[in-house]
Amino acid sequence: MSVLVLGGAGYIGSHMVKRLVEQNEDVVVIDNLVTGHRQAVDKQARFYKGDVRDRAFLDQVFQKESIDTVIHFAAFSIVPESMKDPLKYFDNNTGGVITLLEAMHANHVSRIVFSSTAATYGNPEHATIKETDIQAPINPYGESKLMMEKIMHWADIAYGIKFVALRYFNVAGAADDGSIGEDHHPETHLIPIVLQVAAGKRAELQIYGDDYATADGTNVRDYVHVTDLADAHILAMKYLQAGNNSNAFNLGSSTGFSVKQILEAARQATGKKIPAKIAARRPGDPDTLVAKSDKAREVLKWQPKYDDIHEIIKTAWNWTQKHPNGFEEEN
Ligand code: UDP
Repeated sequence: MSVLVLGGAGYIGSHMVKRLVEQNEDVVVIDNLVTGHRQAVDKQARFYKGDVRDRAFLDQVFQKESIDTVIHFAAFSIVPESMKDPLKYFDNNTGGVITLLEAMHANHVSRIVFSSTAATYGNPEHATIKETDIQAPINPYGESKLMMEKIMHWADIAYGIKFVALRYFNVAGAADDGSIGEDHHPETHLIPIVLQVAAGKRAELQIYGDDYATADGTNVRDYVHVTDLADAHILAMKYLQAGNNSNAFNLGSSTGFSVKQILEAARQATGKKIPAKIAARRPGDPDTLVAKSDKAREVLKWQPKYDDIHEIIKTAWNWTQKHPNGFEEEN
């Protein structure tokens, strides 16, 4: 039996595929390559180019392969873009999962692990967020993911498709060997942008707002290493394969870093000056998002290996230095 990774050519998906291959799983990948990179996909995985909204295509893959569990990353994930173009997010993310669940149901596949997000909590009620806290998104990206969670819930009740929703906080870093890493066009995420400045590819970092209700006025986020995140998916897959019920888990480090603190940590990790200036707020950003992720540690026995933000940034810096043009140079 195989594991099907949708979105396996993307940032998180490609690290997932690498970890699964390292654990001797038989891996099938689907990606439409809109934001993903073919070169990021481990050569031992069987690759199918296609879209999660294409039912006929999904049926073909399910019929050709023998899929035990689906791990679903294929989604858009940029908060400011979702504010400008919400329907793009509801179509691809929410619409996509409907088609995927229909295809799973028709082809008798009954386990799915999927990427949810801290953005489903909106402006959180508590300083550290628990899975049981109210989910009230303040941007369409978070809303599209919350709708996916709700759709999964009803698909479980009706069709017995068991799911694990993994609510990621901020994902960062790259594979230890520097073979794959984060490469978005355009890049919008904080750590890769900071490192582009460190590498001399951008003049300066723009800090989006310093008047938030946080200690230094800049947004606070909880950063988790991409390999630790991938490992949590493997544990979630095993949890479902052991016959457990559907569930949701936060994945974070439980420690918050402000934008200014990330900048300072990156200066230390790279030894570069990294110029920065304060800019206007970006729409859709909550003040603080920090996870309580005890549940994943207790139930899934998740033990993240990276607990130092400098080490996380160093893995991303290693990737940036080894691949100054991302995956483009390999085209
Ligand atoms: N951010 C910033 N400058 C940038 C990119 C991001 O100040 O060039 C801030 C952003 O406002 C947010 C934090 O960095 O508070 C993390 O943003 P990112 O886009 O990496 O992840 P998100 O939290 O949106 O998932």
